[in-house]
Amino acid sequence: MTPATPRIAIIGAGPGGLTCARVLQRNDVPVTVFEHDASAGARPQRGALELHLTTGQAALRAAGLQKEFAAVARPAGQEVRLLDHTATVLFQHAPTPAPTPAPAPGAAGRAEIDRGELRRLLLDSLTPETVRWGSYLRTLHPLGDGRHRAEFDDGHTETYELVIGADGSWSRVRPMLSDATPHYTGVTFVESGFEDADTRHPEVARLVGAGSMRAESAGKALIARRCSRGRIRLYAAFRGSQDWALEAGVRITDTEAVRAVLLDRFAGWDERLLALLRDNDGGFANRPLFALPVPHTWTHTPGLTLLGDAAHLMPPFARPGAGLAMLDGAELARNLTGHRDPDEAVSAYEAALRPRAAEAAEHAARGLAEALAPDAPRGSLRHPRDRPR
Ligand SMILES: Cc1cc2nc3c(=O)[nH]c(=O)nc-3n(C[C@H](O)[C@H](O)[C@H](O)COP(=O)(O)OP(=O)(O)OC[C@H]3O[C@@H](n4cnc5c(N)ncnc54)[C@H](O)[C@@H]3O)c2cc1C
Repeated sequence: MTPATPRIAIIGAGPGGLTCARVLQRNDVPVTVFEHDASAGARPQRGALELHLTTGQAALRAAGLQKEFAAVARPAGQEVRLLDHTATVLFQHAPTPAPTPAPAPGAAGRAEIDRGELRRLLLDSLTPETVRWGSYLRTLHPLGDGRHRAEFDDGHTETYELVIGADGSWSRVRPMLSDATPHYTGVTFVESGFEDADTRHPEVARLVGAGSMRAESAGKALIARRCSRGRIRLYAAFRGSQDWALEAGVRITDTEAVRAVLLDRFAGWDERLLALLRDNDGGFANRPLFALPVPHTWTHTPGLTLLGDAAHLMPPFARPGAGLAMLDGAELARNLTGHRDPDEAVSAYEAALRPRAAEAAEHAARGLAEALAPDAPRGSLRHPRDRPR
């Protein structure tokens, strides 16, 4: 640690914040992470994340965690299928079969890890007590010299020379830097899933194939993806109010009532596709999609910065948000350990982040717009391999 090393706080123990903390500690820079969740297991970390060689996996290399990742990751299903509402396959890309023995996760460019496993892997790599659980940042008070006093929900305060906002969509750090707030994209995903699909739901498993499948028509889509342990995750995506359930007079927890509303919305679609809405295991979860303006920029302010969704919230389409957050975290930490002046390090990180985030967000917005366009799947046929994450 050089005399110039600032006292650093990271707000948020998501993939971005934890990667940043790990790379800092690996370079002997002390850091504290403040996390709203009461403990590592307080909130179920559902679903799988696909990490690419150039983003999430690059960040894990910077974190020195490739071996740990390879031990729990699996090669991501590479097949892509695009269908219309009659279940006619319009595009199919099935990569050549994997050689024997199967390649290591990541060898094919993409690997998948369960969200919970990724959190555990990153947490295990940090020195004990790095994360202060149950600490919700309420606000930051600028002290005028680049330092900020962080005030937490329980009333306690602490002063830091650098506060990194890794606190996701509804960041409490972002308002200190920018007036931007996430807007509803007009698209809602309703999430559901299938367990042990090959055995219990063979028709669904065949329809989805070995990677991801999406069926699109006239502003609606059914998006399915293989996950670990025989699971398939499904999003029913449509344009409309984020309060669609309320307006239809149903509660999202009333599985059968939600199913009836969804079947009504997708009326006229082929029965094989409707089976995705009829036969799922468990209930439905509402995921209205929000995004920050593109580009989202802010004036460099000594002592503060943002990474991940706090900096560039975008729809989960075409670009993997978790991987981008991890890359941000790794790059920021690397800059901080490579520059003598921490403020220059943050400026250099922000200058590199801006075009990268804008390019990814434009791509994600375009993918979402095409998939949910009135003339879908026409637009998606131009970029059929861009798919939801
Ligand atoms: C429906 C859906 C599906 C998705 N699927 C994928 C996918 O398959 N692959 C992929 O790569 N990405 C996916 N994403 C995007 C991905 O989830 C995010 O881009 C990623 O989690 C961002 O990481 P992060 O570290 O920036 O923030 P987050 O993961 O949001 O972490 C922020 C953390 O900060 C904490 N926090 C928030 N506010 C405070 C506060 N004030 N004080 C203290 N702590 C706070 C939160 O509890 C949280 O732990 C999906 C998103 C959606 C909506």
